[in-house]
Amino acid sequence: MSETRTAQLMDGSGLAQRIVEETAARAAEITDRTGVAPCLATVLVGEDPASATYVRMKRARCAKAGITSRHIGLPATTTTAELVDTLAELSGDPDVHGILLQHPCGPHIDERAAFEAIAPEKDVDGVTMHSFAAMSFARPGFVSCTPGGIMRLLEAYDVELAGKRAVVVGRSAILGKPAGMLLLAKDATVTYCHSRTDDLSAIVREADVVVAAVGRPRLILGEDIKPGAVVIDAGYSPGNVGDVDHDTAVTRAGLITPVPGGVGPMTIAVLLEQTVRAAANQLGTRHHV
Ligand code: NAP
Repeated sequence: MSETRTAQLMDGSGLAQRIVEETAARAAEITDRTGVAPCLATVLVGEDPASATYVRMKRARCAKAGITSRHIGLPATTTTAELVDTLAELSGDPDVHGILLQHPCGPHIDERAAFEAIAPEKDVDGVTMHSFAAMSFARPGFVSCTPGGIMRLLEAYDVELAGKRAVVVGRSAILGKPAGMLLLAKDATVTYCHSRTDDLSAIVREADVVVAAVGRPRLILGEDIKPGAVVIDAGYSPGNVGDVDHDTAVTRAGLITPVPGGVGPMTIAVLLEQTVRAAANQLGTRHHV
């Protein structure tokens, strides 16, 4: 009888907790030194229950880390121009250090126009074109939180990326695309896959590192995972289901993220960390980054 291999699980919850503890210590230091606590503004358009829950969760984590938050809830009827005005005002408000626009904002909003109203130095969610360019040029700046969290996980598990084949499935502006750029900056050979990709299985089979960022339950089959590959499952569908068929992938991968407890907690940790960095930059307590 052949032995069943089991991949090592990448503990996003544990790593995120350590990052949040370090972030809380830095936030306290800033508050002691300047008398001002780091402040994140959260903006939510409409009353989508899932979005409202995400914002509540992020604000609760902020509070635990010594970051204050200011919430702006806008009606579902808000126009793009009104949203842009709100974000521009927050961008100019010296009491706000970071801005998070919860998205999706609704089909009637030009989300790109809204994101671009966030000042780059307050773009702690890494959603502006400025931040994307910084990620693409491997320059200092704020990273998109989920891709940033993925990179921190890879680093924590000493995953060598130089010269490795990384396959990113999904190409959204806040997840797939920046994830690929960050992997490229670490000298991985990156392939992007998306809904028009032919023969996804064949491409995934060649990957040393797979980043699944689609939102389709169990799209990536275990049989397509190269033995020993690193599998990062950023996908999330109701019922705690990822984009990777975990039960079969775990028998072939070397390292794999669980869902939940993998990428999810890392996203919030990076958001908090970047908010505190933004505050430090703006309050002049650290070198600008
Ligand atoms: P999105 O904007 O809907 O993008 C999905 C991407 O998947 C698109 O690029 C799409 O291709 C591609 N795709 C769709 N069907 C495909 C298929 N059959 N084969 C290959 N590619 C396919 O979603 P997103 O915002 O990037 O989020 C993706 C997933 O990550 C979701 O499950 C979301 O819940 C999760 N997520 C998790 C976190 C976290 O903190 N853990 C944060 C953000 C998102 P096209 O470009 O061709 O349409």
